[in-house]
Amino acid sequence: SSRIVAIVGRPNVGKSTLFNRLIEQRKAIVDETAGVTRDRNYGKGEWIGVEYSVIDTGGYVVNSEDVFEAEINKQVHLAIDEADVIMFVVDVEAGITDLDDAIANILRRSKKEIVLVVNKVDNHNRILDAQEFYGLGLGEIYCISSMTGSGTGDMLDALVDKF
Ligand code: GDP
Ligand code: MG
Repeated sequence: SSRIVAIVGRPNVGKSTLFNRLIEQRKAIVDETAGVTRDRNYGKGEWIGVEYSVIDTGGYVVNSEDVFEAEINKQVHLAIDEADVIMFVVDVEAGITDLDDAIANILRRSKKEIVLVVNKVDNHNRILDAQEFYGLGLGEIYCISSMTGSGTGDMLDALVDKF
């Protein structure tokens, strides 16, 4: 069976950084500025002998969250159509934003398998801040730092369980 995971989330939460870590190549372009246009990016990952395909639902057009929303909704629906599991990435530095709520609503209705990933948990203090993401109503949270790789083992265990 095909195992496809799509990484979704609003701009600048660290989707491409996570994608790069999963495929262990520098394939996606990490944007230091939010909202730079990038194409969707495909790669392959592997965890405890389970191989899967991963989609980085990269790019959005401009820097205004209002203008993002339609494009993000499109990307999320594409991901729901294409993928077996959705990795929904949020940012502990930013907390829950309106766009996070909007994406969570779509994902909840989709009945897809979701892995809710709280990124930028670079130190233990931030695990406390991350608890608010239970409020998205998507179940368990996986606290990671895409930058250091911390927490990604538990996240990947959860991912391969959902295929
Ligand atoms: P995307 O727009 O969701 O694809 O986000 P990017 O992967 O392009 O990352 C956006 C910014 O967040 C970049 O400046 C990254 O270096 C930074 N970033 C990504 N992951 C982490 C992390 O785990 N911790 C911290 N502190 N910054 C991160
Ligand atoms: Mg990106």
